[in-house]
Amino acid sequence: MRIDVVTIFPEYLDPLRQALLGRAIERGLLSVDVHDLRRWTHDVHKAVDDSPYGGGPGMVMKPQVWGDALDELCAGGTPRLVVPTPAGRPFTQAMAREYAREDWLMFACGRYEGIDQRVLDDAARRMTVDEVSIGDYVLVGGEVAVMTMVEAVGRLLPGVLGNPASHEQDSFSDGLLEGPSYTRPEVWRDLAVPDVLRSGNHGAITRWRRDQALTRTFERRPELLAALPEDALDKHDLAH
Ligand code: SAM
Repeated sequence: MRIDVVTIFPEYLDPLRQALLGRAIERGLLSVDVHDLRRWTHDVHKAVDDSPYGGGPGMVMKPQVWGDALDELCAGGTPRLVVPTPAGRPFTQAMAREYAREDWLMFACGRYEGIDQRVLDDAARRMTVDEVSIGDYVLVGGEVAVMTMVEAVGRLLPGVLGNPASHEQDSFSDGLLEGPSYTRPEVWRDLAVPDVLRSGNHGAITRWRRDQALTRTFERRPELLAALPEDALDKHDLAH
């Protein structure tokens, strides 16, 4: 997969080259190219923002600069353009899976009050444009939102995780939160690992894990249970 990120703070994205994703980049499983938006400015001050039409606080990112950047970067093809904004569609694991099937994603990091809407409207004439929020809070800029999305997408790419089964069992994969996990020692500060996990009874372990996931989801995110399709719960689940 190819990923391009346009930002006024390219170094903000450096952590993406660490650990699992860093290794995936080295192994050629994905490429991440980060572009400094100021490269496409036209004035000596390299200005990327201007005051908003209609008044109000803050500044808005200029359409000419973004337009030139996207024209040049998209000259060779058509990426899916993802624009982080608190006013976007909430990012979910289902969207991460959808993005992981794309060949090319381009992320446009906003700052200040965001990007002039015409940049998105113009790009949408040529490519799919998604305005996406990573949660109901407001960050300073789009870079951290992009890192969140790239991490969620990157770990789903074939070959990135050593054991692909690990993301198949993650929270949200079956619509539920994952239950608790334990490792050695058996007892730590008077707290014992649940007996069933040491029983060797794989059927009982699977059932216990499923019950823990159901309980946790019911307690913490009941709306996820309500959203499950009718056939997602078997008779043991319902009895639980
Ligand atoms: N005025 C905007 C609003 O109220 O919707 C907030 C702009 S915010 C200060 C600046 C930039 O941070 C946004 O353009 C976006 O790129 C990013 N950002 C902030 N919160 C975000 C969130 N929850 N999800 C995704 N991006 C976010």
